Amino acid sequence: MVDLVGQHAKIQSELDEAIGRVMATGAFVKGPEVAAFAEELAEFTGSKHVIPCGNGTDALQIALMALGIGPGDEVITTGFTFISTVEVVALMGAKPVLVDVHRDTFTIDPEQVRTALTPQTKAIVPVHLFGQMADMDALMDISETSGVPIIEDNAQAIGAAWCGNTNRHGQSGTFGLMGTTSFFPSKNLGCMGDGGAIVTSDDAVATRCKQIANHGMVKQYHHDVVGINSRLDGLQAAILRVKLKHLRGYLSARQAAAARYDALLEGCAGLHIPAREQRSSHVFHQYTLKIGGGRRDALRTHLAEHGIPSGIYYPVPGHAQQAFSHFQYNPDTYTVSAELARTVLSLPMHTELTEEQQQFISDVIIKFID
Ligand SMILES: *Cc1c(COP(=O)(O)O)cnc(C)c1O
Repeated sequence: MVDLVGQHAKIQSELDEAIGRVMATGAFVKGPEVAAFAEELAEFTGSKHVIPCGNGTDALQIALMALGIGPGDEVITTGFTFISTVEVVALMGAKPVLVDVHRDTFTIDPEQVRTALTPQTKAIVPVHLFGQMADMDALMDISETSGVPIIEDNAQAIGAAWCGNTNRHGQSGTFGLMGTTSFFPSKNLGCMGDGGAIVTSDDAVATRCKQIANHGMVKQYHHDVVGINSRLDGLQAAILRVKLKHLRGYLSARQAAAARYDALLEGCAGLHIPAREQRSSHVFHQYTLKIGGGRRDALRTHLAEHGIPSGIYYPVPGHAQQAFSHFQYNPDTYTVSAELARTVLSLPMHTELTEEQQQFISDVIIKFID
């Protein structure tokens, strides 16, 4: 599904140099590389602060903690996402209020967010799924009228941009009070282990996130609030600084690969190529088809028989997860998520994908479907 070995081989000497630099200084946790990366990512996103942390799940948790979210509170999000988005809300003792997604773009339905608001709602967490942004025009309107802050789960869409109807434009993760992201190796900006960050332009929120990620401490050994231990290490930061320089190129390579899949698969009856939200660029963390006629699983098996990997993101939506059964979600409310769980299929998508590989994959798909 990804080719990190191929991607890294092309920048081997830059990576070696970066890793060598960290080994030479011994700054393995925190240190100058982490600070420099935070600054460079802030510049890239156009937001004021970047707070690096241990991973994308921690980033979400720290964001919720910064808002003081706990028992009795509600957080509105979607279940058609990686588990972290919902998990951290439950972990904080709050209630994840799940709403359904759009059938075509797979992102949260703002009308349902509006309906789900209650006096207990403390945050809205849209997910920019598969590389495309949720409807930030509508969501920011809801946030501004209700006063409920937005935390954007931007683990899959770093570098995507929104150009909205109402003067709203900017990069993913910079609209809400906070944006969170992950540097898990397979993400669009990935390191060689775990990593994550919170992005914000609010000074007070930035200070609070930094403090929470560092054991609730500002002055050494003086702990003002209950925090956690979540940090990016020096090696990962040095690697990320190298890869951030190439990120625009990586995103273009993904978009070019997506356009090639589109051209090869468009018009093939029985499948839908990914729909585009006109106001968002798409950075294609995943290239996700919808396969009709109940044939998704058979196609997946057929692909595997031809040595082609594929993925199902996500086979079980949040409302149907055993871990959340105590929230007693009504399955009738999530018809779109349930349908997508049965029909989506993600194809190999990465920066090193060749035309020949895509031609082969598409031929196998078309022959099966016809
Ligand atoms: C990957 C991902 C996360 C979690 O990131 P980790 O670094 O693996 O903890 C959260 N949300 C979404 C949507 C993701 O894709």
